[in-house]
Amino acid sequence: MVNVVRFIFLLAVMAVSASCNSNKKAASGDGEAVVTQPAGPAFSADSAYAFCAEQCGFGPRTMNSEGHERCGEWIAGKFKAYGMAVTGQRVTLNGYDGTPLKATNIIASYRPELAERILLCAHWDTRPWADNDPDSANWRKPVLGANDGASGVAVMLEVARLLHADTAKLAVGVDFVCFDAEDWGVPRWSDVADTGDSWALGAQHWSANPHKEGYKARFGILLDMVGGQGAQFWREGMSMQYAPDIVKKVWSAAEVVGFSSYFVDRDGGMVTDDHVPVNEKAKIPTIDIIAFYPDCTQSTFGPTWHTVSDDMEHIDRATLGAVGQTVIQVLYSER
Ligand SMILES: [Zn+2]
Repeated sequence: MVNVVRFIFLLAVMAVSASCNSNKKAASGDGEAVVTQPAGPAFSADSAYAFCAEQCGFGPRTMNSEGHERCGEWIAGKFKAYGMAVTGQRVTLNGYDGTPLKATNIIASYRPELAERILLCAHWDTRPWADNDPDSANWRKPVLGANDGASGVAVMLEVARLLHADTAKLAVGVDFVCFDAEDWGVPRWSDVADTGDSWALGAQHWSANPHKEGYKARFGILLDMVGGQGAQFWREGMSMQYAPDIVKKVWSAAEVVGFSSYFVDRDGGMVTDDHVPVNEKAKIPTIDIIAFYPDCTQSTFGPTWHTVSDDMEHIDRATLGAVGQTVIQVLYSER
């Protein structure tokens, strides 16, 4: 993903928002009262960490690579083992330079018989070029993608494991959509102009051709770079534009489970990511939980973003845990 606008927040807005974030009794987006008590099972950060490491064990999951193919099979197998109905949506997409990309969106459905559904999503491919690395010698090397790729899928797998183990069934269905070909966007060293279209190719395809005709969900949550050390999550601009009530719902859930220090009640950047086509084409109000590092000079996505240092050494279990427990809280608060 890329920044649309860096630092769109205003200092005046920040000063005001810091003093008005105690809204536990506020209404959520669909008019229901926000659940003010922790709900659902305990999210295991250790388990999510292990799922992250297992994906990295396949090496970089870059498009058309063997590691990519094998990891895709592993992800589908894990969701199946947790009782999910799994669909592999295979399609050949065109990269920014015309390269054919053999993509698979992996869709895993919990209780597919239910009409009322929540969408969780993340991309599972990794970037073929570390074009934001401080050392230009690394700009054409692949990114391992422990955070940028594996972390979001790892949180989804742990949620799936918990749903499968919980005898108290959720009141809503859940679709875990692992988007492919998110991170094949125009590299910085290319002469091609980056208009944003070359990113989120798998999500663009699924949003125009969902796995079920006429597919709808109440709302969606995209998880992107949710395992980094020192990560915070600020309200992302496109999410605020398309789904402000869902941002409020998720940030309130984070507060209930004690993770307001991660989910900061401030406006961050505006990001071209998988949630944009899901909002614009599939018309599902979807937010992006994406790392924001306001003080990081390397990138506001964090020091390891699109570098060769995006590895397991820079993953923090606590970040995975904060995001995972918040997602559990959101799901178990739905009626
Ligand atoms: Zn990326």
